[in-house]
Amino acid sequence: MKSCPASQAQIQEARPSERRSRQARVVWRDQVVTIGSQAPVRVQSMTNTDTVDSVATAIQVKELALAGSELVRITVNSPEAAQAVPHIREQLDRMGIYVPLVGDFHYNGHTLLSQYPDCAESLSKYRINPGNVGKGDKRDRQFGQMIEVALKWNKPVRIGVNWGSLDQELMADMMDANNRRAQPWSAKSVMYEALITSALGSAQFAESMGMAPEQIMLSCKVSGVQDLVSVYRELARRCDYPLHLGLTEAGMGTKGTVASTAALAILLQEGIGDTIRVSLTPQPGEARTQEVVVASEILQSLGLRSFVPSVTACPGCGRTTSTTFQELAKQIDDFLRAQMPIWRTQYPGVESLKVAVMGCIVNGPGESKHADIGISLPGSGEAPAAPVFIDGHKRLTLRGEGIAQEFQQIVESYIEKRFGANLTAKTM
Ligand code: SF4
Repeated sequence: MKSCPASQAQIQEARPSERRSRQARVVWRDQVVTIGSQAPVRVQSMTNTDTVDSVATAIQVKELALAGSELVRITVNSPEAAQAVPHIREQLDRMGIYVPLVGDFHYNGHTLLSQYPDCAESLSKYRINPGNVGKGDKRDRQFGQMIEVALKWNKPVRIGVNWGSLDQELMADMMDANNRRAQPWSAKSVMYEALITSALGSAQFAESMGMAPEQIMLSCKVSGVQDLVSVYRELARRCDYPLHLGLTEAGMGTKGTVASTAALAILLQEGIGDTIRVSLTPQPGEARTQEVVVASEILQSLGLRSFVPSVTACPGCGRTTSTTFQELAKQIDDFLRAQMPIWRTQYPGVESLKVAVMGCIVNGPGESKHADIGISLPGSGEAPAAPVFIDGHKRLTLRGEGIAQEFQQIVESYIEKRFGANLTAKTM
């Protein structure tokens, strides 16, 4: 076989571009979450409990935080919800969950924030939708009222524009202006421009009231992948406020997951985006934490962050007629995820661990050697033995019925030995 001549140019490693945003901080007690600039891209989520039910909401916030959400948004849509917010905060503090809470306000946020100071104080950030703060001359006044409260309590805000609730007066003005153009833009381009104008105009207004630019984050959410990419590229070009990314109303299951991943991955690779949320519609019976799992996986897959040890598993093929390796891969993955809330503090650095669970000899040993710890299960026609590779070397071979159990124990003791030492070093 003739080999192709090698190119003389070195192949460059793909890596995400640097972010250019300024840095913001969201704080609760001693918990400071930095956002933007060199800070890690943060994972956000939102509860779907009735905020009035403070116990259920606190429990769900706790679940989301333990799954890895670094900021949790709750809707504050009524006086009862505003009254519940301090109780939710109190319960979380009692449980040792200091994740910052973000209040989501629409229509009556100016009233709620002004009339319920305990609510305003308990929240760490306010999300304001400029399309839902009021119409006509009420718009600036009510938006201004919310900014005043934010200034009083020294809280940052996210000005969150959404194409489903875009300021209709602004949109109409921009459409009129477009009609007067010699060569009118497409309706889509006008909509993009309206989203960005609404976000930037509101941010400038907040700054004119005395809000520091470091206290302002922006988002312009749409539900189409290419629309989101277009809008955020332009938004990032025009400002350096930290940007919150998310494909709004992404949908359910595979569709929502894939669409969100496609959109966010393009932007994050270009250095755009400082916080992310995956807006999944939960399938019946599905945990709300799924959106945190997906968001974390997006960041981890792009090499931007590490949250949980990664499990590399092959898809299986005709060489694996049994489901043993699928079950083992799932079991190991579930086990590692379930342990993370404890391991995060017990074994610092464990999230960078790489485990491989492979179906047969074709790629099994090779892939297992690339991992920190890997197992190559016997495919059809192979001897019933499963070599285990640790730090690139074959260390032992498992046989018989208890392979899954034994491999889990090997992984556990490897973690204890390797990452337990990090804690000792940290405390010395
Ligand atoms: S490693 Fe083996 S079982 Fe897995 S996909 Fe490749 S050939 Fe098939």
